[in-house]
Formats: sequence, structure tokens, C-alpha cells
Amino acid sequence: MPTEQTIKDILSRVNEPFLNKDFISLNFIKSVSINGDKLNLTLMLSDKDENVIKELMEKIKLEFARGASDIKNVNVNFEYGLLEHKDAKKSSVIPNVKNTIAVASGKGGVGKSTAAVNLAVSLAELGLKVGLIDADIYGPSIPMMFDIKEKPKMTEVAGKRKLVPIKKYGVEVMSIGFLIEGDSAVVWRGPMASSALKQFMSDVYWDKLDVLLFDMPPGTGDIQLTLSQTIPLTGAVVVTTPQEISLIDARKGFQMFQKVNVPTLGIIENMSYYNLPDGQRDYIFGRDGGKKMCEEIGVPLLGQIPINKKVREGGDAGKPIVLSEPQSEEAGSFLNIAKTLVKEVNLKNLKANEKPNLEIIV
Ligand code: ADP
Repeated sequence: MPTEQTIKDILSRVNEPFLNKDFISLNFIKSVSINGDKLNLTLMLSDKDENVIKELMEKIKLEFARGASDIKNVNVNFEYGLLEHKDAKKSSVIPNVKNTIAVASGKGGVGKSTAAVNLAVSLAELGLKVGLIDADIYGPSIPMMFDIKEKPKMTEVAGKRKLVPIKKYGVEVMSIGFLIEGDSAVVWRGPMASSALKQFMSDVYWDKLDVLLFDMPPGTGDIQLTLSQTIPLTGAVVVTTPQEISLIDARKGFQMFQKVNVPTLGIIENMSYYNLPDGQRDYIFGRDGGKKMCEEIGVPLLGQIPINKKVREGGDAGKPIVLSEPQSEEAGSFLNIAKTLVKEVNLKNLKANEKPNLEIIV
């Protein structure tokens, strides 16, 4: 039977195909078990492209045949995995969260919350451990979009009383809307809203998440600054429609994150077009505005979502379209956005880890 070291040696010779780095260095091994001459492995990946997996399987089998010939049968499961942000463990606020992402927009009403919810559920569907904080303290819409009516319970962690997020559709959710009656939050002053957000991190039990998303309030105010100063954000996702008026504000959002050294992981263009019954597309808010902005500022376009009544209905009914109509084009777009985001996060985190601490000036 091969020793643990032998298995590590073998897997250190196999690269995760998307990141081009070996599985051991990436810490992308989820589990290993041996049963007689059979080995069961669960590896993490950034991308589950079929052809890539086929090639990867051949390489893994070859390396085991070379390095551990008593293993006759290699069975590998592949799961999506996220690398940890380099400063995640340094954060005393949420040390068990590998990555934090702000879902932001310049303007209200562009579909930021809709995108945050569908993205969170899609990431959970990919098998990742996902949390969502409704940081839109002034207009929390997450309770409705998740159809959550219960109140969160308390628990004790290391002698401290903490709120337990509510789990629905595979996502751990926390919103000020769970704690207040009616719309009383709208009268809050800025500092109170910021301290509420801080409490959503420090006084809530966030356990071992791959990613925690924040549904931000629109614009570039206090809450955005509070967040970037409280935790090491992996990055931001900016939601916009293709319309110029929305793009102007989306650009401001991008610039604000740039100023506080938070990378924009990508842009989601929402309400990109309407599918007419005859198969034509009606570009209600203009064509490819978000896409062009991405080219201009050098940020990936995560995807384009059509405008469709079913997206709105899903939000209002508390069942996001990725679950209510999983076969729809809109659900497919959200799922692809989630997959692209996994790759972007991994690329960013890999680069950040590889950066030397000292720059050598010749
Ligand atoms: P924001 O968070 O930017 O204020 P919301 O997510 O609340 O925006 O969306 C605003 C409204 O537009 C909601 O009623 C929502 O259901 C609807 N909506 C968002 N995206 C779409 C879409 N792609 N198609 C149809 N309706 C949408």
C-alpha cells in the first residue's frame, strides 16, 4: 500500500490544468482513501471542462502506475474549489471564510440583489460553501428573494453569543431584514448602518465558507468603505445595465474599489436584451454597454443576462430563477457567471500568492 508521502509525491507531479500548478501546492486535495488496490480521490478544480478532465485522468493514472504500482484502480471525483485569499486567515473578524466578494452597483434598480442571490445559489449548486450578507442595510431585499420569514437563532461560540445565519437553497444568509420590523432600517444614520454591517461579520457565526458574498447598497458610500477597511476583500463584482446612465455610475463604483485596492473580479451586464417571440433580440437598454466598458477598463465580462419576467417573478416569489427555471437561458447565464467567477477568484488568489514580497529593482 502506498504511504501518504508517496501519494503526495505523485500528486505533486500532477498539475491542476486551469491554474497550471500542482494539486499539492494548491492544497486542492479534498479526500484520499485506499481500499485494497483501489484508490478513491476527490480533487478540486477551477473548471470542469470534459476534455480537460479526460486528459487529467490519463495523467493521474499514469503517475499512479509509475509511482504506486500496487494501486490497480484509481477513481477520481472532481469538485469545484476556491483558493483562499492570502490575507483571509489574518482577518480576526471572519477567519473561517476563504473569500469575500462585494456585489456592487453604481445605481439602484439595475438588478444587483437579483444577481447576488442567483450568483450565491449558483455557486452553492457548484458544490461550494457559500454565505450571503445583505449589506443593503437601507433596503434589504434578500429576505423576500429567499422567501425567509423566520428569525435567526443564537448560539454560543468560544464563550460569545452569536447569531446563526439562516440556510436556504444551500446558502447561509444574514440580513437586517430578519431582525427588524417593517422598514425601520431606512431611517438609520450612516455610522449606525456601518456598525450594523460590522456586526454582521463579527457577531454572526460564519463557519468554513469558500466564499461570502455581500449584497452592497448602491453607490459609493460609507458602507463600501467600511467593508473594504474591515476585511480583506477578495474582490468586487459590479452589476450594470448596458445603458449609459447606469454605466457612468458603474465606472464610479469600479474606480472607488480601485482606490481602496480591491480588484474588480468582473462585471455582470444585466437586462442586456429581451428575447422576442420571433427569435430576435430587442436591446432595450442599448447593446453591449457593459461589455464595451469591460474592454475599456480591462476587467472580465462575467456574463450578460436577458431581461425576462421570470427573473422578476422568481425574485418576488422567493425562488431564484436558477432554481425555479433551471433550464432557462437566464439560469444558464447565472451558472456560467458563477463558473467564470470561480476561475477569476482562483487566478487572482494564485497571482497574489506568487507575488514576491520584495520587488527587485535593477
Ligand atoms: P438592485 O439591487 O440593483 O436595486 P434588484 O435586484 O432589486 O436591483 O432588481 C430591481 C428589479 O428588477 C426587481 O424587481 C427585479 O426582480 C427586477 N430584475 C432584475 N433583473 C432582472 C432581469 N434580468 N429581468 C427581469 N427583471 C429583472
